Amino acid sequence: MQIIRDIAMLRRAVSALQQGGKSVALVPTMGALHAGHLSLVRMGKRVADHVIVSIFVNPTQFGPNEDFAAYPRDEDRDAALLVEEGVSLLWAPDVATMYPGGHSTHVEVAELGADYCGAARPGHFDGVATVVSKLFNQVRPDVAIFGEKDWQQLAIIRRMARDLDFALDILGAPIARDSDGLALSSRNAYLSKDQRAAAVAFPNALKAAAKAIAGGADIAETLAKAEADIVAGGFDSVDYVALADAESLERLSLFRKPARLLAAARMGKTRLIDNLAVA
Ligand code: AMP
Repeated sequence: MQIIRDIAMLRRAVSALQQGGKSVALVPTMGALHAGHLSLVRMGKRVADHVIVSIFVNPTQFGPNEDFAAYPRDEDRDAALLVEEGVSLLWAPDVATMYPGGHSTHVEVAELGADYCGAARPGHFDGVATVVSKLFNQVRPDVAIFGEKDWQQLAIIRRMARDLDFALDILGAPIARDSDGLALSSRNAYLSKDQRAAAVAFPNALKAAAKAIAGGADIAETLAKAEADIVAGGFDSVDYVALADAESLERLSLFRKPARLLAAARMGKTRLIDNLAVA
């Protein structure tokens, strides 16, 4: 596996991979890889001849009081995992390569980025849309793969790719979960043993709420109960638990399909997100 940090070298390496009409899948990540990321790589291997993974902890998607400095980084470990998965190229630019001095162009997906995590993390999705559009232009893949774990992010990237005519397919991969049901996340590493055990209250509350809503329960009452259950389970606060149209992300007060339950909750300094189909 080649590890590349320079844009000109990346362009040459991608062209070489594409020789003979071979296709390329891109899996963008911030590193601290877990089985969820590796499931995206495996999907990439199924749909394309080569998989390129990017690792870039993107400063512009972190707020001033968020965990950019503390975010877990271990490139050697990540690279070893990617070699085992048969990844062709690791694109690992530094901040100065991604944002050279004077960088002043941003991408904003206004309609989809305002609510949910966008409300709790102002500027977050502008940072995501900007860096992902840069990654698309740098690598120029045939397909890019994102996790359904970040449902709002996936919806925003699909909309951005459509709106800006990026010539690639966007694929979503199902959420990989631990055996107790907690969605895998690099941020789970912040949880103490006791916090990790308690965190199962989060997916459990969402599962119960999704079942209740599909069964015809009152939506406002069900969402309020889910919030109360998450706090009773040991979380300090809930940013949101919402029922949304799965594509437009519009909040739903009446159940109609396709719908998605979206949620974010905080335990100590750790903020976790999750979502579920309501079917
Ligand atoms: P991150 O490194 O957290 O920015 O995530 C990189 C990509 O992996 C994003 O497309 C995420 O949605 C995806 N991802 C993260 N956790 C999971 C998971 N548990 N299951 C599936 N995809 C995931």
